[in-house]
Amino acid sequence: MTQMKRFMGSIGPSADKPDEHTNSFIPFFLKLEGDDQFPFAMALKTLEELEQTAQSESELLEYMMEDIVFTSIYATFYEHLFITINENSHLTLELIDKFSETGADRESLIAQQTQHHFSYILNNGECSGCEACDNHGDVDDLIEYYQTGDLVFFINLYLGMQTITYALEQLLYDTLPVRLDLTEKITAQAILEFRQYIVEYTDKKLANI
Ligand SMILES: [Zn+2]
Repeated sequence: MTQMKRFMGSIGPSADKPDEHTNSFIPFFLKLEGDDQFPFAMALKTLEELEQTAQSESELLEYMMEDIVFTSIYATFYEHLFITINENSHLTLELIDKFSETGADRESLIAQQTQHHFSYILNNGECSGCEACDNHGDVDDLIEYYQTGDLVFFINLYLGMQTITYALEQLLYDTLPVRLDLTEKITAQAILEFRQYIVEYTDKKLANI
């Protein structure tokens, strides 16, 4: 399973339930609960803004789908960077600076890939050939939900992905630079647990709304 697909849902290996005692990064997520900067609160705000922009339910669905694909690709870039930092912790600050400086290029690359996937979904999973063909399989699961116009599914996934993205962004720019000791803990497994925790967290919150 590709990283992008793993990021998009709770499809990852259902390892032991991670919590703030077993994963070093969960406490940094939880400590912002109740704050404007809490990733889940930021995700809700982003959704609210999107709802105001969209002229119709189908437009909202399309916006959410695009953002879901965009953020899941983006999350794979964060994951690669974290693993690089883990393996080269003496270069942490340089790697973070470099990542920040190359943001515009990365975003335009991801935007292009997103557009290819988006067309693929709108065309019922058909593509006559594009640069993202190798990875269309990652978005196959979205087609059915898009065709049935499953707003609840997309809202859940959207909020989960947005929350993950904000949390990874804070981890990179706010936490790691002042907690360089944590770079040795930022492994692929730790990020997977962190992500799973966030998905469960948002699912639980949404079930109670
Ligand atoms: Zn294609």
